[in-house]
Amino acid sequence: MHSIRPRLINENGLRVDGRRPDELRPIKMEVGVLEKSDGSAYVEFGGTKVFAAVFGPREAHPKHLALPDRAILNCRYHMTSFSVEERKPLGMTRREIELSKVIREALETVAFLEEFPRASIDVYIEVIQADGGTRTAGLTAASLALADASIPMADLIAAVAVGKVDGQLVLDLCDLEDKYGEADMPVAMAPRFNSVVLLQLNGKFSPSEFKKGLTLAQKGIAEIYRLQQETLKKKFSASRPMEV
Ligand code: ADP
Repeated sequence: MHSIRPRLINENGLRVDGRRPDELRPIKMEVGVLEKSDGSAYVEFGGTKVFAAVFGPREAHPKHLALPDRAILNCRYHMTSFSVEERKPLGMTRREIELSKVIREALETVAFLEEFPRASIDVYIEVIQADGGTRTAGLTAASLALADASIPMADLIAAVAVGKVDGQLVLDLCDLEDKYGEADMPVAMAPRFNSVVLLQLNGKFSPSEFKKGLTLAQKGIAEIYRLQQETLKKKFSASRPMEV
């Protein structure tokens, strides 16, 4: 841990990594990156790197957990032990269990689970490098992997965090901003319905900062959603059989 709090906004109004307050980190997205799963995605937001893999719909196991009227959605968010500098416990931490739950709840709002009674759909999120915003990158990747597995959904989920650093509202916090900033608010949306499916707040916002923060998150989410759609289009137009 650094003992001295670093300055997070410089005299030119730029952030620790040179971004403007309303700027996203460089984003990379790809689907169909893993061979053993039914759907997969890789998502990078700057130094945050995440894989998501989906199995299913497949017969629920153990069978007594199966639901007669819909599929169960299992979700595991996990950070690899080499994803952070500090020593991370090998098993699932309380934080990972909590994040798995909120990510599952967000995905359940869009997935048509009632189309697959007695089945399970299993979503695995592996953070391979963490630099802030792993839950939002994880959710963004998970919804891409579900789409890649052809699970019917009402919409994709796109997510990003907003926060306050040195009194300034910023989009898509990196680890340093998350640690030393005054507030951090991850937001996930189903953009087609303008519907918020996850919102958490760590720290304090005034009511007007909250409103402005949400608008800033929406702006970032619109861009992330556009990239998600482009990524899926690229894969599915490349794999379409040639017309004769
Ligand atoms: P999120 O990754 O969704 O922003 P947090 O706010 O809990 O979730 O974590 C912020 C950042 O703190 C992470 O992205 C990661 O860079 C860092 N972090 C989280 N857990 C650990 C850990 N066990 N050891 C070291 N760094 C961690």
